Amino acid sequence: MPVNDSNRESESASQGSSSKCKFREVWKEKFPWLRHILVEGNSIMKCEYCERYALRGPFGTGSGCVNIQHDSLVTHVASSSHKIAVAKWTCEMEKKAKSIPEHVTLIADANMERIITTMKIMYFIA
Ligand SMILES: [Zn+2]
Repeated sequence: MPVNDSNRESESASQGSSSKCKFREVWKEKFPWLRHILVEGNSIMKCEYCERYALRGPFGTGSGCVNIQHDSLVTHVASSSHKIAVAKWTCEMEKKAKSIPEHVTLIADANMERIITTMKIMYFIA
């Protein structure tokens, strides 16, 4: 984290009212699930995974995260609901990728472990 940059940002933020929150395209490279949407001129952020599995929170079933900051994304990544979404997404992608019958028995054990972990997480939340 370059300290000079954030100093400059807070300086400009004190001058303008909304210049503090600005979406950066580079965030999408770090967070592949990230979607940037403009609603009536206002930026919101949504999570593709959380939306797909209808998980609660602004990134999922909510109206979007309006706090356009890198910290919001870091917090979302650490949230338990996002972890569930990632687990489901990973399972789904692997099922699609490995459909060859010979491989099914090999991946069955690994998948079972993942499913159990996912269920444990869900049980913990519910
Ligand atoms: Zn998410």
